[in-house]
Amino acid sequence: MADLRQEIQRRRTFAIISHPDAGKTTLTEKLLLYGGAIQQAGSVKGKQSARHAVSDWMEIEKQRGISVTSSVLQFEYDGKCVNILDTPGHQDFSEDTYRTLMAADAAVMVIDAAKGVEAQTIKLFKVCTLRHIPIFTFINKMDREARDPFDLMEEIENILGIQTYPMNWPIGCGKEFKGVFDRESRHILAFQSDGKANGVKILDKIEAELGDPSLDELITAPLHEKLAEDIELLDGASYDFDMEAVQTGRLSPVFFGSALTNFGVEPFLKEFLRLSPSPLPRQSGDELIEPAQNTFSGFIFKIQANMNKAHRDRIAFMRICSGKFERGMEVTHVQGGKKIKLAQSTQLMAQDRATVDEAYAGDIIGLFDPGIFSIGDTLCTGKEKIQYAGIPTFAPEHFARITQVDTMKRKQFVKGMEQVAQEGAIQIFRELNGGMEEVIVGVVGVLQFEVLEYRLKNEYNVDIRMQKLPFEHIRWIENEDLDPKDLDLTSDTKRIEDLKGNKLLLFTTPWAINWAQQHNEGLELSEFGNV
Ligand code: GDP
Repeated sequence: MADLRQEIQRRRTFAIISHPDAGKTTLTEKLLLYGGAIQQAGSVKGKQSARHAVSDWMEIEKQRGISVTSSVLQFEYDGKCVNILDTPGHQDFSEDTYRTLMAADAAVMVIDAAKGVEAQTIKLFKVCTLRHIPIFTFINKMDREARDPFDLMEEIENILGIQTYPMNWPIGCGKEFKGVFDRESRHILAFQSDGKANGVKILDKIEAELGDPSLDELITAPLHEKLAEDIELLDGASYDFDMEAVQTGRLSPVFFGSALTNFGVEPFLKEFLRLSPSPLPRQSGDELIEPAQNTFSGFIFKIQANMNKAHRDRIAFMRICSGKFERGMEVTHVQGGKKIKLAQSTQLMAQDRATVDEAYAGDIIGLFDPGIFSIGDTLCTGKEKIQYAGIPTFAPEHFARITQVDTMKRKQFVKGMEQVAQEGAIQIFRELNGGMEEVIVGVVGVLQFEVLEYRLKNEYNVDIRMQKLPFEHIRWIENEDLDPKDLDLTSDTKRIEDLKGNKLLLFTTPWAINWAQQHNEGLELSEFGNV
């Protein structure tokens, strides 16, 4: 028991969120570098990388040089076992990106110092706030021209509605970037660029106190003065550091640095590991399930199809929420109502897939799935059935009308569509009281349309016709006994339903959503399904 508790307490499971190009991959690589998980930066992702290892299972992936599905990276640092959930961010942005956040205990938000809060950061942040997880901010690219740090703090607070607490403060930026002032130790950490910025070298640090004359060599008198002023202002004006507010996602500790040149990454990692929570209890019905207990439990948050092309296998990713996993153990699949043996389990490491024999609450493992699991399912041991709250359905942003080319292949078409939908790659809708001959497919990331087309053709031998639709917003109608036909809507708003019979509306603009709300008293619309 003591061992179990210790193992769980030393775990940190988090996701990194950012807008494309803010530096998420670079930061991830540098973090892995400290953990010794990779010797050379540049192997997590890269268009030219020969070691494109994590999931090269699909042609689209290879052609594009991007990873379609997110993976889990685990490494040890300073006695902690760190799990980074990699959230797909570029063209491969998808509902999986959101779902991954449901498995995390904390998030690191990477912000480009020149750009501030960007569109995708806002979306991902919103999903994090659904669970009130702690959010740490890394303001990246200080070695380049950056915006005023006070402006950046204000923007985070105004746009995201979270308070900020700068843990350190930058001294200049771009060519004039001299380092950061650490607010707790009151020391300066000097930035020494080796001019190459290849990012592999771990820089030595110089430490000196504010006001120390030896700093004159490092920073000019005006910069020194400006820093002293900034710090005075910060100490007087910013929110107090409140651990409770950090842990409930109301106050974000902010760090400045430069992932590419490896500046500020290690201090960030240390502080992050100190302040972020170990695996937290999770809600099952009215009960809170403590992680350190003998009962093993976890839930499936992502399903990945056909890792092995020769088979129709799938891998179901499970977040372990309590107890210890041992390979071969028998568990109850709560939703399926059956006992099953977990014989095949894998963990996706930085470079390879490895078989996992043991894992603890906080860890993510991939389970062989012969097609029995659905997203949100709970697995557990013990007499009392645990059932974790389901994973919400996230609002798709792209829509297309899909029809099959050869109507003789109706059965394969329906099977293929349902399969891909069950894995959570697409959402299927239809006209009110419509059939399956013609459906509306919604996706979070446009690449999923290609995935759908590719898989139907390759696995089900079905060609489809796809007509993109102009809708960009979807809302679930929460009022149960409302007939959508009675709603007063703009002419470009569409009424649809999902396969479970839930009623929804498709809108082209936020303006049309407002219109619907203003013209239909009591209408309740939600951005998330089944929360
Ligand atoms: P992602 O899309 O968020 O994963 O971003 P990447 O990590 O791929 O970085 C996008 C680009 O920004 C790449 O060209 C990186 O080399 C560059 N980059 C990342 N971090 C820094 C940084 O701290 N300073 C500078 N100058 N460039 C950076």
